[in-house]
Formats: sequence, C-alpha cells, structure tokens
Amino acid sequence: MKIVEVGLGERSYPIIVKTGLLDEIGTELQERKLAKRYIVIADDKVATIYFERLCNSLAGKGIKFELLTFPSGEESKNLATIADLSSSLAQYGVDRKDCLIALGGGVTGDITGFAAAIYMRGISFVQIPTTLLAQVDSSVGGKTGVDLPEGKNLVGSFYQPKAVFIDNSVLATLPSGELLNGLAEVIKYGVIYDRNFFELLANKQQQILHLDERSIEEVIVRCCSIKAAVVAADEKESNLRRILNYGHTLGHAVEAASNFSIPHGMAVAMGMVAANKIAVAKSLLSLHEAERIKNIIAGFGLPVAIPSELDRSLMKSYLKTDKKALAGKPFFVLPTCIGQVTITDDVTEELIDAAFN
Ligand code: ADP
Ligand code: ZN
Repeated sequence: MKIVEVGLGERSYPIIVKTGLLDEIGTELQERKLAKRYIVIADDKVATIYFERLCNSLAGKGIKFELLTFPSGEESKNLATIADLSSSLAQYGVDRKDCLIALGGGVTGDITGFAAAIYMRGISFVQIPTTLLAQVDSSVGGKTGVDLPEGKNLVGSFYQPKAVFIDNSVLATLPSGELLNGLAEVIKYGVIYDRNFFELLANKQQQILHLDERSIEEVIVRCCSIKAAVVAADEKESNLRRILNYGHTLGHAVEAASNFSIPHGMAVAMGMVAANKIAVAKSLLSLHEAERIKNIIAGFGLPVAIPSELDRSLMKSYLKTDKKALAGKPFFVLPTCIGQVTITDDVTEELIDAAFN
C-alpha cells in the first residue's frame, strides 16, 4: 500500500493506492469513520462489473450504504443528472452526516463531486476511480462539474474529497482505448515535471501496456504525487497548476473541431506534439528532445499527427474561445527540456498554423 498526501491545510486528504483495494474499502472506511451511511454513485456499466465487490466489502464491516446509478457516458455529465441524483439523495433522507462514494471514471467523479459540493450546501465524498485517466488525473485536485449544451465543464466547483482509493487491478476490464486516454496524461507528467519518470516510462513501456501490477502501481503513485504537489502549490489554477495544461490548449481545439469524436487522451497526445513543434520553432526545445517525446507518445500507441480532414480554421477559432484563453489570447505550455516547461501567450498565427499541419 502506498499513500500520497494531498496537502491542502484543513482540506488535506490521502490517496491510497493498492492492488485489490476495492475489497478492503469496508476496512478503510471503518477506520476513517467518515460517515454514518454511504451513498455509492456509479454509472450502470461500472456498477455491473464492480458494485458487488464493493458491496461485499462494506457489508462485511456492517457499513450502511445505498447505490444510485446513471447511464454511462459523457452525455450523462449534465445538470439533469445532478437534479435527478439530488432528488434521490433527498428521498433517501441523506444528510450532512452521510458521505457519497464516486465509483467509476472521470465522469462519475465529476458528477459525484459536484453533487457533494452543492447538496445541502456540501456533504463529504470519497473517490474510487476506475479508469486510468481518473486514477492519475481527474480524481486528484478537486475539480468537479458538468457540461452545458454551450460547452464542457462550464458549471462546477473546486471541492476536495475526504480520500481517494485507487485499486489498479480494476484497469484489467477497461477498454484499451480508455487505457490509452490515461496514458497521454501519464506521459504529460514526465514531460512537464519529472525527467526520471519520463525515463521510467520509456524503459517500462511494455510492462505498463500489459498492466504489470508493480509497474502500473508505480506509475499511478508517481503521477498522483506530481499532481498533488502541483495542486498543493496552486489549488485554484492561478499559476503553477497551469502547467497541467501541456498539450491541452491545442488538444481542446482538436477535440472540439472533431465534435468530440476524438477522445481526450488522443487529442492531448496530438496537442503535446503540436506544442513541441512551437517550442522547437521558438528555439525553446531541442529537436532531439522533441523527437524523444514524440517517440514515446507513438510507442504507447497514441497518435502524433492531427487528422488532415479536421478543419484548421475551426480549430483556430476554438483556440481563441477556449475557456482558459485571456481576452481571446490562448496560452501555451511549452517544454524547454524533458521535465521542464514554460508558459507563454507569445505565439504567432504562423507558428500555430505550422503546429497544426
Ligand atoms: P473518463 O474517466 O475517461 O472521464 P468515463 O467515466 O466516461 O471516462 O469512463 C469511460 C468508460 O469506461 C465508461 O463507459 C465507463 O462505464 C467505463 N469504465 C470505467 N471504469 C471501468 C473499468 N474499470 N472497467 C470497465 N469499464 C470501465
Ligand atoms: Zn486532460
């Protein structure tokens, strides 16, 4: 068992990583005495695969719980789901002494965290992330929220869980595309923060792709430690936390221009390669290091080129309206070497065009 502490003063919490942890949640919750009753929230697919194990673990310790489900998929990440869940919580008589459990991927974590943030002006919640993306990224840092028809993640709140429980063995049932999605964020951490971690990824590529227990556990722990350090230094993304957007400024434009048919991780992979081109053109990054990053991205089976059929002018218009752009000027996180980045909004149209092609 490895524990990563997210240091946020009174709102600090542990991330516990262990193979098989799902079967020990009852013990963990009993020791932590977080609530008198727990409400498990899961999408229907994850509930079918994993609720029984969680149920046995909770029941084994005499813990009271209920289950609420919603249909799996990003389409559920909206205010209607929040309204439905909140009504169900009220019907079950849930109050501030109870605690929500998010069992699932990033969608479940975002929905559950947001419901916890606003139901009765805030009740506790814990996370059991079941996708690699959620385990290394979305379950750490306290971003919660839902999409609007006008855009993704437009309504939400920073709201920290009481604990995060990560069982890497649940990745065995994850569709391979979902694993790749998470791997893009994993590579991101190496490039923005930790050269040694990047080298580990390069050396252990095969073990990681085959979900070798020790390798994947180490990857998760290292990613969570990096994200925890970044978030602890800048919880609300005013400064350092922006480095986590490496590959995302251009990646979001790719996602949006594809009408979200290109999954997040794939788009981020393309976005990282495009950002590196800008960094090389601005003489910030050596061509050699850019090639190494591109090779590792490709080596994990992620795409490195933006599909030629995507409309370039549409992508550029999304860049300007990006939620994080300031006065229509997007910022770019650009590597200066593997393990270090700089942030700039000083990127010309021509450089952007070249990066997209
Ligand atoms: P993300 O974590 O990428 O934001 P979701 O929460 O939408 O995404 O999860 C992606 C898909 O994978 C959903 O259909 C979800 O039901 C499914 N899923 C999540 N975790 C697992 C798992 N461990 N095994 C199998 N399917 C899973
Ligand atoms: Zn991301």
